[in-house]
Amino acid sequence: MEQTKKKYALKTTIFLFATPIIGVIGTGALLFTRGIPLNTWLVYLFMTAATGLAITGGYHRLFSHRAYKASLPVKLFYILFGAAAFQQSVIEWSSDHRIHHRFVDKEEDPYAITKGFWYAHILWLFENRDHRTPVNVNDLYEDKWVKFQDDHYYKIAIFMGFIFPTLLCALWGDALGGLLLAGSFRIAVNHHMTFFINSLAHYKGDQPFSDKHTAKDNWLIALFTFGEGYHNFHHEFQADYRNGIRWFDYDPTKWLINTFAFFGLASDRKTISEEQILRKKMIMDEKALREKLESKSETLSQGFEERLEALRNSVQETQAKLITLKAVKEEVGKKAVKEAKSDFKVALNTWKRFVSGDLAPV
Ligand SMILES: [Zn+2]
Ligand SMILES: [Zn+2]
Repeated sequence: MEQTKKKYALKTTIFLFATPIIGVIGTGALLFTRGIPLNTWLVYLFMTAATGLAITGGYHRLFSHRAYKASLPVKLFYILFGAAAFQQSVIEWSSDHRIHHRFVDKEEDPYAITKGFWYAHILWLFENRDHRTPVNVNDLYEDKWVKFQDDHYYKIAIFMGFIFPTLLCALWGDALGGLLLAGSFRIAVNHHMTFFINSLAHYKGDQPFSDKHTAKDNWLIALFTFGEGYHNFHHEFQADYRNGIRWFDYDPTKWLINTFAFFGLASDRKTISEEQILRKKMIMDEKALREKLESKSETLSQGFEERLEALRNSVQETQAKLITLKAVKEEVGKKAVKEAKSDFKVALNTWKRFVSGDLAPV
């Protein structure tokens, strides 16, 4: 009996089962009996977005990775609404997450996908971890607001997660709708949004930047995780405040941080250089081509190796030239930059065609 007590986190397990059950049954009952007012749905949407973004923009990119700096109002928003997501305090969450990055896929990884999809998704939370002291988070202990949240976590979480939406919806006489839909049901939704990053984003998708770990890029996951689906990029370049780097990538967390920065509420957004990113991408392109050719039992000739090297050098040289000229744009003029850009584009396109097998490989 003693053994069982120590092994499982009973309260967390009950909470993880109770919130979706009460949320779904309760909301369903309200819907079929008296309906739910539009205002309550709006509070539900607001709470989902605010708590979701507090986890991705706050707990994850700001506190765990220090990918940018945030002003006090932004930090307080993350601390309050992050607690409402019921995913532990910033300190606990960040400690686990930093360990996840450092030991990804290994025994020490708290939510290692190598222990199974469901383990990474939710089962790891059923294990009792009360004995654990958060490590790797000395910087966060020094932040008085983060420390305050850690000291008063449950009070803040209960108030922001349940009482706040209940009181808000009580304004139009729907306290119960606030509690069940914007409280219980929304917490379950928030949970699984985050859990999918640990499970699905390490399970299904592409690996354009590295295959040294299981993290995947998957735009579909980005759609319901506020942009955290570009997880292969993220694991390779965790210091970058972005997850989706192309303009068309769905990364609302990045857009929120950019909006804060525009209004002077965030600063020092860290990005990895385009050269570094492209270098990793090209290593993976090359690897895929070699695997493709080797699977067809094609012998790679000396000519192939030489061509590959020439194309690779051409991309890197034209990119370096473009970056240099961009930095002294005023002196060299727009035309020179434009030409360098076009040379880089040609080199990159030739590389892409070569590695995709469009050009004869030998
Ligand atoms: Zn991360
Ligand atoms: Zn991960």
